[in-house]
Amino acid sequence: MDIRTGNGFDVHAFGPGDHVTLCGVKIPHDQALVGHSDADVGMHTVTDAIYGALAEGDIGQHFPPSDPQWKGAASEVFLRHAVGLATQRGFTLTHVDCTLICEHPKIGPHARAMRSQMAALLGIEVGRVSVKATTSERLGFTGRGEGIACIATATLVAT
Ligand code: MG
Repeated sequence: MDIRTGNGFDVHAFGPGDHVTLCGVKIPHDQALVGHSDADVGMHTVTDAIYGALAEGDIGQHFPPSDPQWKGAASEVFLRHAVGLATQRGFTLTHVDCTLICEHPKIGPHARAMRSQMAALLGIEVGRVSVKATTSERLGFTGRGEGIACIATATLVAT
């Protein structure tokens, strides 16, 4: 069996705004995430994990931030591209585990909606998509509330 795992890591800083979008779910917040696209740090991280499993570089190579056509882009464009590439290469995505790292907003109340949203985009059952969260105990940039970090693992199986 050809089983691949890939990891992803991403960070976006907070800036002025009234909501954040995490794993496709809009959450009211007293700040927004800054980024060239919609700054969905969760979706970016999962996208990179899939590219990692395929040894297909990273999100910045496929969607250069210097290219104006991706300004304000919905991050699901990136995720769909990674999933499409996996299919093209003969792989099925079997599992995603995504951990958001921040003090605020609280992720728990939105985790189920995030899992559903991500499962729909990934084309897999919700039981194969994990979205969880941790704080960094007020340490470092996430602890100071300067931004949100995310790590993710994607598992792909050759079909
Ligand atoms: Mg990003």
